[in-house]
Amino acid sequence: MREVYLDHAATTPVHPEVAELIQEYLVRTYGNPSSLHRFGRRARAALEEAREQVAEALGAEPEEIVFTSGGTEADNLAIRGAALAHGRPGHIITTRVEHHAVLHTCEALEETGFEVTYLPVDRHGRIAPEQVAEAIRPDTVLVTVMLANNEVGTVQPLAAVGEICRERGVLLHSDAVQALGQLPIDVGQLGVDLLSVSGHKIYGPKGIGALYVRRGVRLSPLMYGGGHERRRRPGTENVPGIVGLGKACELAVRELAARARTMREMRDRLVEGIQARIAEVVLNGHPTERLPNNANLCFRYVEGESILLGLDSKGIAASSGSACTSGALEPSHVLMAMGLSHELAQGSVRFSVGRLTRAEDIDYVLEVLPPIVERLRNMSPLYAERGRARQAGSPPGEG
Ligand SMILES: *Cc1c(COP(=O)(O)O)cnc(C)c1O
Repeated sequence: MREVYLDHAATTPVHPEVAELIQEYLVRTYGNPSSLHRFGRRARAALEEAREQVAEALGAEPEEIVFTSGGTEADNLAIRGAALAHGRPGHIITTRVEHHAVLHTCEALEETGFEVTYLPVDRHGRIAPEQVAEAIRPDTVLVTVMLANNEVGTVQPLAAVGEICRERGVLLHSDAVQALGQLPIDVGQLGVDLLSVSGHKIYGPKGIGALYVRRGVRLSPLMYGGGHERRRRPGTENVPGIVGLGKACELAVRELAARARTMREMRDRLVEGIQARIAEVVLNGHPTERLPNNANLCFRYVEGESILLGLDSKGIAASSGSACTSGALEPSHVLMAMGLSHELAQGSVRFSVGRLTRAEDIDYVLEVLPPIVERLRNMSPLYAERGRARQAGSPPGEG
């Protein structure tokens, strides 16, 4: 059967050049970077080259990069590390649309006495920078605002938030896991002190990520066990993962414009095609301030999960809500924060195209999807109700 992968926001296939390099560091250049002998020195050199590649992709200095086990750990290290370094409970500002790696970390800090402000977003999923200015208090320790949303692709006005935080002397962290490889990132321009990235969202391996820590920022480690990563993250370094992340960053920067162009083209082909073929479809997220690869759509009167199963049976991979919550039929916290009704939020499907998505892939989806939605709608009591309401001449009720 034909297979089409449109779930790149969940994870991406490892780039062949990255895979080749990882193989080399698994099998041949296997030394421990802490060892003094030549085997160790070779691994150390590779580690430091990868650090430069990651730094380069973010506009940072190599010594400002800490390797972690992924985006989740980078978010934890930034938020809990800053909170721990503060030494006593304080106040944190974040948004209602963050990834769970940020939200659940903030919730855990609330258990220890921290107070957290969760900023509401507009219907496109955006905060206004002034909300941050208004929420800052004398005891605010950290502001954490993602650069781009993983579910709806909305890009936040982070540079303006950065300006406010600098002015007020408050630390700013950003989860840039989805943005890297899709938007140019410059930590200086954004005004962030801490920024998280992950390997497997940018055609690198899973289980590796990095946290940018601006020079001079105080951060407590979450683990103990050695002097690795400037005492911020102990443990023998994941050398194959790290060189893979470095290479993936290098390729992401080099191919950024070309990838973004392809993805935007394929995404628009998909959205326009769906809107031309299926009635009562809503595009979620910001119309322009969004990632090039993301199309999050609500199909009225049907559940997103049912559409996913129908697509999967035709070899097409998409997602409803975030990968972490799919399986549980709870509407996405992001769509709910954007003010969508419970009913509409449950009818959402996220398509995320990738650097290798082609027009034939999109056209296959456009062929397969309309009959799936039609079949589900014909089985939907909500849809039948709407039909009856129309016949009776009254407008359909908003769910
Ligand atoms: C995937 C993702 C993460 C988690 O990264 P992992 O490397 O899978 O731990 C965090 N934040 C966002 C926005 C993501 O998309």
